[in-house]
Amino acid sequence: MHYVCPVCGGVSETAKNCGTEGCSLQGQPLVECACEDNSHEPVKTNKGN
Ligand SMILES: [Zn+2]
Ligand SMILES: [Zn+2]
Repeated sequence: MHYVCPVCGGVSETAKNCGTEGCSLQGQPLVECACEDNSHEPVKTNKGN
Protein backbone atom coordinates (compact mmCIF):
# COMPACT_ATOMS: atom_id res chain seq x y z
CA MET A 1 0.00 0.00 0.00
CA HIS A 2 1.16 3.47 -0.80
CA TYR A 3 -0.35 6.90 -1.08
CA VAL A 4 -0.80 9.01 -4.17
CA CYS A 5 -1.92 12.54 -4.95
CA PRO A 6 -4.26 12.33 -7.95
CA VAL A 7 -3.60 15.95 -8.85
CA CYS A 8 0.19 16.30 -8.87
CA GLY A 9 1.06 12.59 -8.92
CA GLY A 10 3.11 12.70 -5.74
CA VAL A 11 3.71 9.30 -4.15
CA SER A 12 4.51 8.44 -0.53
CA GLU A 13 5.04 5.16 1.26
CA THR A 14 3.35 6.58 4.33
CA ALA A 15 0.08 8.39 4.92
CA LYS A 16 0.58 12.12 4.82
CA ASN A 17 -0.76 15.26 3.24
CA CYS A 18 0.29 16.43 -0.19
CA GLY A 19 3.11 18.91 0.18
CA THR A 20 3.47 20.02 -3.41
CA GLU A 21 3.38 23.77 -3.65
CA GLY A 22 0.65 24.93 -6.00
CA CYS A 23 -1.14 21.57 -5.99
CA SER A 24 -4.86 21.98 -5.41
CA LEU A 25 -4.62 19.16 -2.87
CA GLN A 26 -1.72 20.65 -0.95
CA GLY A 27 -2.37 20.01 2.74
CA GLN A 28 -4.97 17.37 1.92
CA PRO A 29 -4.43 13.67 2.63
CA LEU A 30 -2.99 11.53 -0.14
CA VAL A 31 -5.20 8.76 -1.51
CA GLU A 32 -4.53 5.12 -0.69
CA CYS A 33 -3.35 3.18 -3.72
CA ALA A 34 -2.61 -0.53 -3.97
CA CYS A 35 -1.38 -0.84 -7.54
CA GLU A 36 1.61 -3.12 -8.12
CA ASP A 37 2.88 -1.67 -11.38
CA ASN A 38 3.33 1.97 -10.38
CA SER A 39 0.52 3.07 -12.67
CA HIS A 40 -1.59 4.27 -9.74
CA GLU A 41 -4.57 3.63 -11.94
CA PRO A 42 -7.21 3.18 -9.23
CA VAL A 43 -6.35 6.69 -8.11
CA LYS A 44 -5.63 8.42 -11.37
CA THR A 45 -8.72 7.16 -13.18
CA ASN A 46 -10.70 9.03 -10.56
CA LYS A 47 -9.31 12.24 -11.89
CA GLY A 48 -11.56 14.44 -13.97
CA ASN A 49 -14.20 12.97 -16.18
ZN1 LIG B 1 -0.68 17.03 -4.90
ZN1 LIG C 1 -0.13 3.12 -7.04
